[in-house]
Amino acid sequence: MKPGKAVTIIGGGIAGLSAAIFLNERGFRIKLLETSPKLGGRAYSFFDKEKDQFFDNGQHILAGWYTNTFEYLKITGSFNKLNIQKNLEVNFFNTDREVFKLKCPDMTPPMNLITGLLKFKAFNFKDKFALKNISSLLKDTGKISDSFENTGLLLKNLNQTGNLLKYFWEPFILAVFNTTPDKVSTEIFLTVMNIGFNSKNNSTLVIPEVNLNELLINDAVNYFRENKIEVVLNSRVERIITNEDEKKIDCVLTENGDKFNSDYFISAVPFFGFKKLFDENIYLKNNFKSEFLKTSSIVSVHLFLENEITEEILPANSLGMTGLIGTTVQWLFIRNRKHLSLVISGADDLLVTEMSQDEILELCLNDLKKTIPGFDKIKISGHKIIKEKRATFVPDKTSKELRPKHETSYSNFFIAGDWTDTGLPATIESAVTSAKKCASLITNYELGITSFER
Ligand SMILES: Cc1cc2nc3c(=O)[nH]c(=O)nc-3n(C[C@H](O)[C@H](O)[C@H](O)COP(=O)(O)OP(=O)(O)OC[C@H]3O[C@@H](n4cnc5c(N)ncnc54)[C@H](O)[C@@H]3O)c2cc1C
Repeated sequence: MKPGKAVTIIGGGIAGLSAAIFLNERGFRIKLLETSPKLGGRAYSFFDKEKDQFFDNGQHILAGWYTNTFEYLKITGSFNKLNIQKNLEVNFFNTDREVFKLKCPDMTPPMNLITGLLKFKAFNFKDKFALKNISSLLKDTGKISDSFENTGLLLKNLNQTGNLLKYFWEPFILAVFNTTPDKVSTEIFLTVMNIGFNSKNNSTLVIPEVNLNELLINDAVNYFRENKIEVVLNSRVERIITNEDEKKIDCVLTENGDKFNSDYFISAVPFFGFKKLFDENIYLKNNFKSEFLKTSSIVSVHLFLENEITEEILPANSLGMTGLIGTTVQWLFIRNRKHLSLVISGADDLLVTEMSQDEILELCLNDLKKTIPGFDKIKISGHKIIKEKRATFVPDKTSKELRPKHETSYSNFFIAGDWTDTGLPATIESAVTSAKKCASLITNYELGITSFER
């Protein structure tokens, strides 16, 4: 089908980029408006003149269940830039400077995870006994999510021990949801558990082998060029003009004074930018509630070492990913043996976001010295600290009703973005899933297939 109808996409983050690509593949003509001078939104790399290299705004981890993201990457030609782990495998250091390896065997889930955890040396008999309750998370999810206010309470009810929480659940939940278990709704937690462990491929971790621009953006830009997709940078949409009689969007206006008409419109702006697109009355009339989603920050720290850090000090694993237990820094990634990148998720709760750069550096170095034997001898030659204050929304119980559906009351207006009603946490996969949903809805609309969402 080549309908050739025009679609204007507002926002050039991953949701906007993937919506442009999915719709182009279906024969639509695309114009993409982005307020900033760059594409990528909350997932991007920037060039640092002093260091003469690109940095990611934060380490991004993907997972085997990111199937829509993989589809996007296959279309742009970037899929081979991923390091896909065969089986889940992560090293952990604790504050007694002990190293523990979580290595899940080549088995069907959840037995791969349960067996890996049963062999995990940090766990005692009581911890291992409590693991039997994990399987109950993978069935009867409706009943469970109705019964518990949050994931912290659910895990407590399943008798998950302090050790299980400390070495497995808390790091896993912080990494996926960017907040603590008590702020994660059981529904979204169980959704991720079920997708993550419903097949062997889904339960693996995936790390980009290149920076975020090379993975997510540069090849998309080449695709746009080849497919004549028009991208207008530095173009902030100030207002979406609705036609209330016809229940349609007429056009969008930018702060530069430009007016864009098209057959369809997609908003792919973040939750904190959505309300500004509308006249206040129109926003309220549509019962949009994006401004009530709570934000959660991530602090990322790049550390440069004078000399290469050896394998004896920092053992390698297939992803170069190490968990730190009992510290503020949660994850450490070996970018190369002279460049480490550290992740502090849920950084507001940990009071890190408001710290000065010097304080954050000191905190990170102390955490590494406390956990990694031999790190006290490592000399640092430089560092870079990036605070992303609105990295994600908090997926608590109230967030569900604040996330809009992809269809709206306007027949030609759709909403994409990691914060829309995908049922997933704020992730690249949620962003791409929302874009795919919008592309399908628009295609169906063209084919005269009405949907059930509206
Ligand atoms: C530090 C950090 C670490 C992360 N780690 C992970 C991870 O490990 N795994 C994972 O899956 N996800 C991770 N995420 C989340 C992931 O980056 C986001 O979920 C995803 O990038 C969101 O994409 P999006 O397109 O929905 O929104 P955004 O990226 O926010 O894109 C929205 C775009 O709209 C533009 N815009 C806003 N207003 C307007 C306007 N009025 N007119 C025109 N354009 C506008 C913005 O400039 C932006 O480019 C992380 C995020 C951060 C910040």
